[in-house]
Amino acid sequence: MSAVLHRSFARAPPVAVAGSGVYLYDAAGKEYLDASGGAAVSCLGHSHPAVIDAICSQVRTLSFAHTTFFTSDSAERLAEFLLRRAPPGFGRGRAAFLGSGSEAMEAAIKLTRQYFVERGEAARVRFIARRQSYHGNTLGALALSGHAARRAIYEPLLMDVQHVSPCFPYRFQEEGESAEVYVQRLADELESTLLSLGPETVAAFVAEPVVGATLGCVAPAPGYFQQVREVCDKYGVLLIADEVMCGMGRCGAWFTIGDEGISPDLVVLAKGLGAGYVPISAMLASERVVATISAGSRALNNGHTYMGHPLACAAALAVVTVIDQEQLLARVKQQGTKLAQLLAVRFREHPQVGDIRGRGLFLALELVADRAHKTPFEREKDLASKLRTQALMHGLVCYPGSGTADGVRGDHVLLAPPYIIDDPQLEQLTDKLSRALSAALV
Ligand code: PLP
Repeated sequence: MSAVLHRSFARAPPVAVAGSGVYLYDAAGKEYLDASGGAAVSCLGHSHPAVIDAICSQVRTLSFAHTTFFTSDSAERLAEFLLRRAPPGFGRGRAAFLGSGSEAMEAAIKLTRQYFVERGEAARVRFIARRQSYHGNTLGALALSGHAARRAIYEPLLMDVQHVSPCFPYRFQEEGESAEVYVQRLADELESTLLSLGPETVAAFVAEPVVGATLGCVAPAPGYFQQVREVCDKYGVLLIADEVMCGMGRCGAWFTIGDEGISPDLVVLAKGLGAGYVPISAMLASERVVATISAGSRALNNGHTYMGHPLACAAALAVVTVIDQEQLLARVKQQGTKLAQLLAVRFREHPQVGDIRGRGLFLALELVADRAHKTPFEREKDLASKLRTQALMHGLVCYPGSGTADGVRGDHVLLAPPYIIDDPQLEQLTDKLSRALSAALV
């Protein structure tokens, strides 16, 4: 019996022993096509030589130096790389490096608080986020998250966050309602929520530019984030973009929010930044936020032992350098278009596929019991976990999720393959998914 506290007590997971390119191998020698990079993590595939070399070289020269006393070349260079590519307003901003998406979200919550305290607006203590969203599993990040099932047993421990509607056209844009009217309706809801809380008590609005694990790759309706930015500006509220899953090229751009034509005040990055080689995340603070702290305490109030870890930063710097030098952002767009076409051909007429959506190599199918009425499967069917199991049996790693429709009911499967995936592998992915889905639906 395993001594590891696994996610499920029901079965021991296979032991992963090796990874190469888009494939993973278990101890029994079985090959798995990693079609979701775990959970949108392994953007360069497995065992990329440039990243391995960077890690070895860094660990040989400097493995650790505490950030209370030192900085490191790899942290400095990584921060410059990211800020240079960030949306307008970040050029003279700053980046902090942490260990996980949740930790970086906590850092964003805390920096927001520090910003308002130093501005003399200490009454701003409230956060607004969206239903069916996920921002992490630590208590602050979970409080922001709007995923009912993931929050359920922790509710009594969570800070009070107000959740508004997601921007989710497939389910909530009404028949005959234009995109313009839909986003206006959502902006009005955000504004009335702010007004009911008292705008002077609200610190930030938090959203994933393209929603990942909880909705299944839902891109915003055109103009949504511009409207959100206007509402935030009107009431002096910060906008935090959670790009933990959708950023770092996953949707075809370094920063997904940049495609929406606006700049947030804080951006959080994680998964694709370390590409699975190291645990690392980043919180980027815009010039506006940095300027306030510069004119005030001149110190970050929040810290962790392993922040700015030189080894993690060196690996992430190698990851982003590979993405840059191998022009993988363009490849994400190209392979993403091909995968979307393959999925459309295979699943467009499938009676249990209600929607095929996403951006770049961040695509999902929403699974429904009845297409015409978009009726979700009942929770008891547990379709998402059946599909996960069947996919593994078919040698496929994909990322099914549930709660898609209303936080409890609804299922989708998320695909986020490595940016290096080639054409035959895209076909293999589609074949395996089709067979796994048929088996799960039996
Ligand atoms: N934010 C988003 C959008 C995520 O998808 C996740 C994880 O899936 C997190 C935050 C939390 O990241 P981590 O699991 O690294 O703590």
